[in-house]
Parts: sequence; C-alpha cells; structure tokens
Amino acid sequence: MKDKKPLLKNLKSWGNYFNINSHLHYLKNGKIPNLLKDEEFIVNANGRGYGDSSLNDNVVKTDNLKEIIFFDSEKGILQCQSGLLLSEVINKITPYKWFLPISPGTKFITLGGAIAADVHGKNHHKAGCFSEFIMSLKVLIPNGTLISCSKTENVSLFLATCGGMGLTGIITEVTFRLKPIKSAYINQKTVATTNLEETFKVFENFDTSTYLVSWIDGMSKNSSLGKAITFLGEHATDDNFENPTSKKISIPKYFPSFILNSISIKLHNLYYFIRNANKESKVHLNSFFYPLDSIDNWNRIYGKKGFVQYQIVIPKKDGYQGIFKILSEVQSSKHISYLTILKLLGKENENHLSFPMEGYTIAMDFKVNKGLWTFLDKLDVIVSEYNGRAYLAKDGRMSKTFFEKGYPRIKEFNEVRKKYDLEKLQSLQSKRLGL
Ligand SMILES: Cc1cc2nc3c(=O)[nH]c(=O)nc-3n(C[C@H](O)[C@H](O)[C@H](O)COP(=O)(O)OP(=O)(O)OC[C@H]3O[C@@H](n4cnc5c(N)ncnc54)[C@H](O)[C@@H]3O)c2cc1C
Repeated sequence: MKDKKPLLKNLKSWGNYFNINSHLHYLKNGKIPNLLKDEEFIVNANGRGYGDSSLNDNVVKTDNLKEIIFFDSEKGILQCQSGLLLSEVINKITPYKWFLPISPGTKFITLGGAIAADVHGKNHHKAGCFSEFIMSLKVLIPNGTLISCSKTENVSLFLATCGGMGLTGIITEVTFRLKPIKSAYINQKTVATTNLEETFKVFENFDTSTYLVSWIDGMSKNSSLGKAITFLGEHATDDNFENPTSKKISIPKYFPSFILNSISIKLHNLYYFIRNANKESKVHLNSFFYPLDSIDNWNRIYGKKGFVQYQIVIPKKDGYQGIFKILSEVQSSKHISYLTILKLLGKENENHLSFPMEGYTIAMDFKVNKGLWTFLDKLDVIVSEYNGRAYLAKDGRMSKTFFEKGYPRIKEFNEVRKKYDLEKLQSLQSKRLGL
C-alpha cells in the first residue's frame, strides 16, 4: 500500500529563531515510511530543543509512541515507548512513590529527547546524566532494523545514541531505573550571595546537597558580578503526595520586543533577589524542578525574532576564572542575558557526544539581535581557551571548528554512523557541524 502524502507544517525551535516547513512522518506498525527511503530525516519530538537539532525538511514525529509496556512498581523499573513526555511519566509513577532519577528544567520533553540529549539536572554533580539510569534502549535505524542496545549489548550504538541528538536512529523504547521518594515535596533552602566569588564558595561548601543550582543576576556588574541566589534541595520524607492546584499563566502572543529591556529586567531581578534570599521552605516537585512550566509559551516573551540559550561548561579547575571572564564579557557588551543559571557538573560519562564534564556550566538566554552571533563566537574562543564545550541541545549557531575542539570523541561517533549506515539521519545542526 502506498504511504499517504505527509502533512507539511511550519516547525520552530524552542527559541523561535529557526523555522522550517517540514514534512511530518510517523512510524506505521513500528516501520519507517517508504517515502523516507531516499530522504534525509531526523526525529522531531516535542520541539523543546532551543536550536536546530530536530529540524530538517523531513521529520519523524513520535507522539504516537506513548505506550507504557511494563512498570515494576516494587523495584522502580519502567519500560515504555519514547514519545511519552516526562510529565506523563511523572503522573504515572509518583502515586507509587517513584520519581525521575534526573530531571531537566522542564517536564515537557519526551523520553526520546531526554536520551538523545543525555539530559542532566540540578543533581549532575552527584547522579550524572539520564543515560546512567538506562537499562536498555531500542533503536530503529534507517535500513529498518530494530536494535537493542545497552551498556553491555551493542555498546558502541548505546554510547553514540545517548547524547547523539537523534543521529543514530529513532529511539523507540527505553527501560530505565526510577528514584524512590517519600514525598512529592522538596525541602528547599536558598543562599544569597553578593558576587561570583561568594557564589562559588556556596557551591564548594554545599556540594553534598542533592540538588544545587544558582540563579545569577545577569544585570549585576563590577564588584557585584555573579551576585546570585543558590537553591539547595533535599527530598522531603513527610509522605505527602498531594498535588497543590496551581494557576497556569499563558502568553497568548509574542511580546513586542521593547518590553524586555535593561530597565524591566533590572526591576525583575531586584524583586526576584529580595523575594528568594535566604529562605527555608517546603516546595512541590513541580515548583522546584519546573518553575517555567507554569507559564505556557513563555518563549514568546522574547518577541518574534526569538532567542538563543548559550550553555557552556568550563572544567572545574578553571571554573571560577572562566565563568568570571564570560560574565565580564557579557557585562561589557550590549547583549543582555535575561536568565542566567549556574550549575555544578560531576564526572563526564563515556557517551560520545554527552555534554557534561566535571566543571561549572552556565546557561544564558539572549534575545536574537544584531551582532549576537559575532559576540557568541567571541565567547566560544574563551570557552575553548579553557577546554570547555557548548551543549548541543541548546545550540543553533556554533561552528564546526568550535564543536570539534570541545568534543574529542567525534571520531568514535562517526565510526558508529558508518558502521550502521546512518548518514541519512541529518538535522540542520548536524549538517552545520559536519556530522
Ligand atoms: C525550559 C527548558 C529547560 C531545559 N532544561 C534542561 C536541563 O536542565 N538540562 C538539560 O540537559 N536539558 C534541558 N533542556 C533541554 C531539553 O531537555 C532538550 O533539548 C531535549 O532534548 C528536548 O526534548 P524534546 O522531546 O522536546 O525533543 P526535540 O526538541 O524535538 O528534539 C531534541 C533532539 O532529540 C532528538 N530526539 C528526540 N526524540 C528522539 C527519539 N525518539 N529518537 C531519536 N532522537 C530523538 C531530536 O532528533 C533532536 O536531536 C531544557 C529545555 C527547555 C525548553
């Protein structure tokens, strides 16, 4: 039977900067449609990647892959299809007192997206990436073969797939370990600091904390550069699994670009700092892990031209100097980071393209405007000088040279692509980076 003509749809990146008219394809009975036989394609899941990693003329959607195949509620093991959102997984497992072992800053990503980016959370310094908890994966490669892989079976495919940004095949299924919890709440403590040196001291003093993340006042400069609120979190043990009803705000339209400016953001940051400084409280998992999820379409705040998130890591030994230099460059430029987040990362894993390495990672949101790309190229030079790298899940503009300098295992990754004949898997990002 002939495949139906695929729907043509305008797809955007989460940063709203990229948009492309793509043909949407779906697996049918677990098979890749014939129409893709001679075409390049990539998975586009829930589109929460900030850049161009899930965009191409032909994309495979995974929102029909939502089956929970097996849930061992005693041992905390989940086997399911990859199109499930983390929010759907959480709804299923928390009543049984389990949670995700690793949570990124939004629950509106799919399991496939979490694996392809090998996501990290506020506990990377203690727990590592999502792939650390994977028992096995099923990956459908372009020639139609479905391959099981894990840390012990088809190992090279596993190492390339976790963090491989969809370039090794369609992840259709995953089995992974969950984290036991005794409450749906987190005991949260905040520590206010007045400059980067103090902020780094907090990271050093509290690195045994289960969850650790700093919000940096991106407008602070000179002796206040790196002024921050650091959030520390531990799972509560009060057996409270109630979910408080929370109001959802929605951004119906793109904001006119003048609304976000240095004055409005200074006022916001001042309010945020005062409201959150040095407090102890008990907060629901949703507000601790996913504060931005309470605002629908918050990415429209940056206006029609969109925004990019620049996330890089600097190795631990030079962490302070590198981050200081980057924040100083931002301060002396005309570009404003509207949201700046600092995290401590633990040891890197063996996956070929996973982002985390032992060090400090900073993520900054910049509105797209004139001169931004040249400015970010300048920051890339600093990151390279310190032997750091940028995160592929947030990227939409880094050069091939900068990418190759930061990721020393590209050769092994390309060997896997060759071995399994994966060249047809391409995104706008992979073409730019020469993968
Ligand atoms: C508000 C916000 C906060 C975030 N916080 C964090 C964070 O704290 N830590 C972190 O690590 N990341 C974070 N991210 C990044 C996000 O976790 C990744 O970009 C994730 O990959 C997005 O998943 P998605 O399902 O939306 O996939 P998409 O954006 O659609 O795709 C992302 C990549 O995954 C590939 N992919 C998706 N599904 C599959 C599949 N089934 N098989 C093969 N490849 C697949 C795509 O081809 C693409 O390369 C954040 C993103 C947002 C918007």
